[in-house]
Amino acid sequence: MPGKLAARIVSIYLTLSCNAWKIQRRFGFLYVNGSILFLSLNLLLLRSMAPSPDAKRHAARIVRRLAAEYRDAVCALNFDNPLELLVATILSAQCTDVRVNIVTESLFDKYQSAEDFAAAPLRQLEQAIRTTGFFRNKAKNIKACCQNIVDLHDGDVPRNLEQLVELPGVGRKTANVVLGVAFEVASGVVVDTHVGRLSRRLGMTRETDPVKIERDLMEQLSRRQWIAFSHRMIHHGRRVCTARRPKCDECKMANCCPRIGVETN
Ligand code: SF4
Repeated sequence: MPGKLAARIVSIYLTLSCNAWKIQRRFGFLYVNGSILFLSLNLLLLRSMAPSPDAKRHAARIVRRLAAEYRDAVCALNFDNPLELLVATILSAQCTDVRVNIVTESLFDKYQSAEDFAAAPLRQLEQAIRTTGFFRNKAKNIKACCQNIVDLHDGDVPRNLEQLVELPGVGRKTANVVLGVAFEVASGVVVDTHVGRLSRRLGMTRETDPVKIERDLMEQLSRRQWIAFSHRMIHHGRRVCTARRPKCDECKMANCCPRIGVETN
């Protein structure tokens, strides 16, 4: 739904709701009518914010094509346990998975538990992850995150979104990766740079903020599709629908893609 229309609906809703409450307070006998109006507006707002049947059909086509093309797509980060995946995902910010896998091969030999990372001298940790970029910030976050896991979760990575996003350096994207890949819990849709870009080009969202993109995707997809959808979109973004030169001519999604924002030569 266009942002302006949604804002207008919310504004009308709030105005009418306030009026309904004022009526209720002033004229007790209109309480029932006021409540009905309040309830009706709630339902109207919920309906107006839900994806249209067309949007859901469009999403279903995209899901089918992605599944046909990338049936076995999985997370490209190497890990043996949830903690390793958490650390690798933090390292993957602004870095390729290939580079992260090179770095973590020796990193995970040296540091094998949350206690190890928490006790690591910061400078040493920085040097160990230096080539992933933003290494000072990442090292600080990994250390603080692991200290938090030791202090509050007995050294185990928590299995729910609320506790994961409380950890330093862990946002919704990282939490969704860990829950979906390590624990097979569909807590949301992972929105990285590829998923964000493709979702807009494919007409599944107009948003640029990852949280809002994720909300749009969660509404259009069923929960059981959330985990695989992200992996497949990321694969498609890397191989075909690249940021600078999307290969629309050889794209299997072309029949269902409006190519929004893609320049044609
Ligand atoms: S048709 Fe082009 S823009 Fe659409 S998904 Fe394929 S490569 Fe991307």
